[in-house]
Amino acid sequence: MSKKWICPLCGHENPEDAEVCEVCGAYHDESAYDAIADEENNEDD
Ligand SMILES: [Zn+2]
Repeated sequence: MSKKWICPLCGHENPEDAEVCEVCGAYHDESAYDAIADEENNEDD
């Protein structure tokens, strides 16, 4: 379900149909936010 999305760069509210920001042309790519790999190093003494 697509909804209006706010451009992370310029803050412009774009319609759900817009694949890119109408103002700055930034791509609406949610996958761009790659989850940072958690490196949990448990060192037991
Ligand atoms: Zn924008």
